[in-house]
Amino acid sequence: MLLTIIIVFSLIFGASVGSFLNVVILRLPEEGASIVFPGSRCPKCLHDLKWYDNVPVISFILLKKQCRYCGVPISWQYPLVELTMALLSLALLFKFGFTYGLPIYFAFTAALLVVIVIDFYHKIIPDVISLSGIVIGFACSFINPVITWQQSGIGLLVGGGSLYAVAAGYYLFTKREGMGG
Ligand SMILES: [Zn+2]
Repeated sequence: MLLTIIIVFSLIFGASVGSFLNVVILRLPEEGASIVFPGSRCPKCLHDLKWYDNVPVISFILLKKQCRYCGVPISWQYPLVELTMALLSLALLFKFGFTYGLPIYFAFTAALLVVIVIDFYHKIIPDVISLSGIVIGFACSFINPVITWQQSGIGLLVGGGSLYAVAAGYYLFTKREGMGG
């Protein structure tokens, strides 16, 4: 019984975070757009959405994938990101249990999901995610029970450094940018 409650809570929590991630995905690539304001609204008719139009996955089904006010189709991105984050949330819980590793990996998984979708639409990976992710990831390694800070440092240099070396080398030889950050 307790396990069922934990599983259901984990799925609902993940889907709710996924709903927030959809807002981040939409607004982060826009210059100067705020993540928090305005509240949820239809990107087409700008009508404010009621809470019952905003329930992860379920509203998408009940609204038959269109805006209640203007009928514009709602992108599959919304339920897909919500559902993906719900399942990832559960997977992370089973993998790490209730340890410091759980919130750390949850945050990084959510950030990667945002990166995937933004990269898919815009062919960019926002520095605000990748660069601050490097700093935060290394800082978190001091309390992360899964890896040591030395391992995190090696990962940073080998993972980030090797890609940076390829990008810098390409630029050196061709004088034009071949790979972004
Ligand atoms: Zn609308």
